Amino acid sequence: MLSPTVALTGIAGRKLEIPTGLFINNEFVPSLTGNTLETTNPATGELLATISSASPSDIDTAVSAAKTAFTIWRSTPGTKRRQLLLKLSDLIERDADEFATIEALDVGVIFAQSKGMNVANAIETLRYFAGWADKHDGKSMKIPGGMAYTQKEPIGVCAAIVPWNSPLMITIWKLAPCIAVGNVLVLKSAELTPLYGIKLAQLIKEAGFPPGVVNIITGLGKDAGQALAEHMDVRKLAFTGSGPVGRGILAASAKSNLKKVTLELGGKGASIVFDDADLENAAFWTTVGITAHNGQICAAGSRIYVQSGIYDRFIEAFKKNSLQAVAGDPLHNGSTKGPLASSVQKEKVLKCIENGVKEGVELLHGGKEIKRDGNFIENTAFVNVGENMSIMREEIFGPVASIANFTTEKEVLRLANDSEYGLSSAIFTSDVSRAQRVSDLLETGQVTVNTWGDVSSNAPFGGFKQSGFGRDMGEEALDGWTNIKVVKINT
Ligand code: NAD
Repeated sequence: MLSPTVALTGIAGRKLEIPTGLFINNEFVPSLTGNTLETTNPATGELLATISSASPSDIDTAVSAAKTAFTIWRSTPGTKRRQLLLKLSDLIERDADEFATIEALDVGVIFAQSKGMNVANAIETLRYFAGWADKHDGKSMKIPGGMAYTQKEPIGVCAAIVPWNSPLMITIWKLAPCIAVGNVLVLKSAELTPLYGIKLAQLIKEAGFPPGVVNIITGLGKDAGQALAEHMDVRKLAFTGSGPVGRGILAASAKSNLKKVTLELGGKGASIVFDDADLENAAFWTTVGITAHNGQICAAGSRIYVQSGIYDRFIEAFKKNSLQAVAGDPLHNGSTKGPLASSVQKEKVLKCIENGVKEGVELLHGGKEIKRDGNFIENTAFVNVGENMSIMREEIFGPVASIANFTTEKEVLRLANDSEYGLSSAIFTSDVSRAQRVSDLLETGQVTVNTWGDVSSNAPFGGFKQSGFGRDMGEEALDGWTNIKVVKINT
């Protein structure tokens, strides 16, 4: 028999009570089948919680609750929706330490990084889209014989399926624009990191959202996720995760009701360091770009191209920065490097490193597991990596940098664009004309100059090519959550 709540222990022994049920219609309910899933602490391997795991029949219940809520929510004034979103952001801010504790325990993110980056971005994104709740308007135009106007309408019951790497932040990227414009949502968290979503559900209820507007489901991808993707009453599905699962979701949409799909998939980001770059700044950001959260970031700068004149000095500075990481419990002050999120991910990353070594690539540093409990791997870098080496081409989703040198701008553009991924890239240079010229030609949805991976709530984020389509954040995200209607009046 599943206990209705579990207790987690955070910093200084502080206890946190988390429900174990599925959040449907503002209540926590056990799965209809009684199925459960377990989540563990990646820093220790210890069991954190056993919680409900949704079956397709639970998805039916959640979708039906959302469908009922849609009639109320779509006609709720934008000003009221804004007020509720702002209330939710205030509650997350109030409980920021608890969210950071949960992400540290369940995901392995360093507490300070979770609080300063993931939780802070989630709060800002809610506030940003709260502002849009009463402003996402159409336009008017004259037409022969009359006039016309457009209006942007909510789509209806929407779903979101999110990954495990930065779960609260990515969840809010979907949830905030979705409900701001009057849709209702069934969100499935990743089975590896479900606890933040349960905490969020508690605050949704506390904020006063009507029942059914947001439903948060824990469960497996092949059961709960697939059921959402195939559901005939889900009209839009926003997905962040791997390419193969993204393709499956598109196929499920095609086979069911042609629900709108937006996909945020993987990446193999290029960081390009020109001779004229500020070396210290470039070495700092490129190191952050591949070691932050152990490289388990879709925008990770895992391919680093360095111009020949600065190459040797860059390598030295990069290595020094990478080796400064202090591996330890993400909850402890002083740790700067946590574990990978799962033992499966650790094995996958070690296998990629092994392939690099087998292919004869030169290892600059790292490459091994760190001998302690949990899923720890050394920060790793390969140098002089050939363009066709597997570690230069495949998304590793670990702290593994592939570094190579280049001579000309033309050459590095060819190398950087020679990837099926197109999510994010970075340029380091002190020449603003070059920065603009090169960013114009990079085939990625985001280019950062003299920094890496900035995420701002008011700037769109998403991919080109096989990194997906659709945008999170920014005004552009709203287009993915609305239908446009034109009304034509014969005057
Ligand atoms: P994943 O694709 O395995 O899982 C993502 C989500 O999909 C999970 O919630 C999972 O339960 C669900 N899922 C799995 N099988 C499913 C199915 N058959 N039907 C429906 N849902 C299913 O990805 P992951 O391992 O959780 O995350 C890592 C991947 O996500 C990496 O490739 C990474 O690059 C990508 N990612 C992309 C972004 C971005 O914004 N572009 C952000 C974070 C992660």
